[in-house]
Amino acid sequence: MNAEEHRSTKVFRDYLKIKSVQPEPDYGSIVKFLEEYAKTCEFPCRVHEAVPGFPIVIMTIEGSNPSLPSILLNSHTDVVPVFPDQWKYDPFSATKDEEGNIYARGSQDMKCVGIQHLEAMRELTAEGVRLLRTVHISFVPDEEVGGKKGMKPWCQQEDFKSLNVGFAMDEGLANPGDEMRVFYSERTARWASFVAHGNPGHGSGFIPDTAGYKVQKILGKLLEFRDQQEARLKSDSKLTVGDVNTANITSLKMRVQPNVVPDRLEVGFDIRVTPSEITQVDEMLDSWCSECDVSLEAFHKQNEMGITSTDPEDKWWKAFTTALNNCNVAYTKEIFPAGTDSRYLRQLGLPALGFSPMNHTPILLHDHNEFLNERIFLDGIQTMRAVIESVANVEN
Ligand code: ZN
Repeated sequence: MNAEEHRSTKVFRDYLKIKSVQPEPDYGSIVKFLEEYAKTCEFPCRVHEAVPGFPIVIMTIEGSNPSLPSILLNSHTDVVPVFPDQWKYDPFSATKDEEGNIYARGSQDMKCVGIQHLEAMRELTAEGVRLLRTVHISFVPDEEVGGKKGMKPWCQQEDFKSLNVGFAMDEGLANPGDEMRVFYSERTARWASFVAHGNPGHGSGFIPDTAGYKVQKILGKLLEFRDQQEARLKSDSKLTVGDVNTANITSLKMRVQPNVVPDRLEVGFDIRVTPSEITQVDEMLDSWCSECDVSLEAFHKQNEMGITSTDPEDKWWKAFTTALNNCNVAYTKEIFPAGTDSRYLRQLGLPALGFSPMNHTPILLHDHNEFLNERIFLDGIQTMRAVIESVANVEN
């Protein structure tokens, strides 16, 4: 059936069939697959473990001036869990239907991009194109659970520093419309609980100043903030969700028993903050604490979110967008609504753009029946190729 299948599609589908699914990704098969690929293309390839048992595969194609800072093309090899009974096909069969839609976990997030990086470089190399800068294609584990055993430690190690990276590319998102989306920063998360303490007592009385009163106030603040931000997004068509803040209540905890007014109640939340408003939102959370007489606990927060320049004169941005223009690809520039490994690179001060060339594609990452159309995937290789050629030939 696949005798005449496009070479790149075949590679993509083979990669999708590997069950590198959290919480126990088969990284061994990933390494084997990538090493075999590197061998057939004669790409120098090595494996580094920033954390033992979590392999990072790095292929290096040397440029004509290897002393210049290099280009890093990064993708993660793990994928999120599936609920197979909700899928039309086995999520690790990479079934291609009559319309050319390839169904598999990771088809959008982000095994497509990993193969597009590889196939773009394979084509360039096969045609004898020598780029000015060295290109490293990296495949990292653990991104879907936060990157603590992948990009986060790696980018702090000598091994990473030895790559002398000057510019990096990582994942973006699909778009149902015409444009491809380029991400230059991301929102940061506030995961925490507001904890309210109040007077306990018997559930049959009029207890003053209970934890319940305080929780009611803080819930009101959270929901009001959420509604304001949604209205702000809807009021301006130029804004995307990455430009505003979102707030969701994710847990409510109490204790004791039905006839006891508890002395403590907890409201867990997930607030995602756009990078230019981090201080403002933190100050707001603090002020809510004093206004509602609650405290913040288990605060997970990241303070600095790097922002990669999109100044028209910035050499990387210019090279990147010139390539898109030359391919007649319309694009938008956006702030990524959630987190990716790019944040670790930007924290080092490295310019990084998130780019998954998938227009005319519904956004199905982490969803059931994730798919990517073969045509979009193959066209994406050509777009990727143009972009890589452009950034890897930036002179200095
Ligand atoms: Zn991803």
